Amino acid sequence: MSAQIIDGKAFAAKVRGQVAEHVTRIKEENGITPGLAVVLVGEDPASQVYVRSKGKQTVEAGMNSYEHKLDADTSQDDLLKLIADLNADKDVHGILVQLPLPKHLNEDLVINSIAPEKDVDGFHISNVGLLGTGQKSMVPCTPLGCLMMLRDYHGSLSGMNAVVIGRSNIVGKPMAQLLLGDSCTVTIAHSRTKDLPAVVRGADIVVAAVGRPEMVPGDWIKPGATVIDVGINRIDKPEGGTRLVGDVDYASCAEVAGAVTPVPGGVGPMTIACLLANTVTACCRIHGLVEPEGLTA
Ligand code: NDP
Repeated sequence: MSAQIIDGKAFAAKVRGQVAEHVTRIKEENGITPGLAVVLVGEDPASQVYVRSKGKQTVEAGMNSYEHKLDADTSQDDLLKLIADLNADKDVHGILVQLPLPKHLNEDLVINSIAPEKDVDGFHISNVGLLGTGQKSMVPCTPLGCLMMLRDYHGSLSGMNAVVIGRSNIVGKPMAQLLLGDSCTVTIAHSRTKDLPAVVRGADIVVAAVGRPEMVPGDWIKPGATVIDVGINRIDKPEGGTRLVGDVDYASCAEVAGAVTPVPGGVGPMTIACLLANTVTACCRIHGLVEPEGLTA
């Protein structure tokens, strides 16, 4: 069998188009421009690239982008003060603090100081609790993007066996909650899971979010299963230079799976598209406007 490729790049472009359409409507009908504030502390090169890309795509969708770049030695009090100002700023509907933060800053404290209704990353403890209890919440962008692709491909996910490999707060756990919310039977696997290959072989849906290059081979995959590869790993090429690979061995999985997301061009582009979607959703909720359809869980 040769798997269908789930094209995250094309899907993300469609989501961005839907966001832009909704933004235009909000501007025209309500005179409101959704705004996203991104806070970057320090000069981590990968974070700088992400923040630039987020700002550019925010503006392309017709929204306002506010970038706050702080020195690596910024104090916790100064960062909390900035977040308090952004919480109070009526032009800001979404706030994202780029992670990881420098070691002297308390990540949990910082994230939980963001107003929950502006927490477009969905990491605030209130949003985690709302998602866990099946209530309306801001949903973390990466798992939201995975869910959108799965719903688009399958229609209903009800009754499917799903295995999420990885139990992080930003991907694995919220992914499992979302799949449960769509009535999958969900298993969360992690580094202590016994006989992971057997666990994965029972899955109709596999979401790999581990951070280990090409860890999941094709012979772990049930024929016809859908494989969502969240991993982004940079590895050396034999001929020199580097390339990006996922947590799944794409070549062997593509021979067995029914559908698979590539790396790059799968989950990655969907993550930023969902950040834009969350920003417009946050803006609608804050102002009591009709939310865009299909852009949240
Ligand atoms: P974390 O390091 O926070 O979590 C990794 C998880 O994998 C842990 O739960 C860990 O288990 C589990 N794990 C590690 N080794 C094994 C193993 N041998 N067998 C089974 N499980 C294992 O990573 P993240 O969740 O933050 O990210 C995962 C991957 O997704 C990374 O490659 C990251 O770059 C990528 N990513 C991609 C995004 C995108 O936009 N596409 C966004 C966010 C992340 P335990 O808890 O027991 O240690």
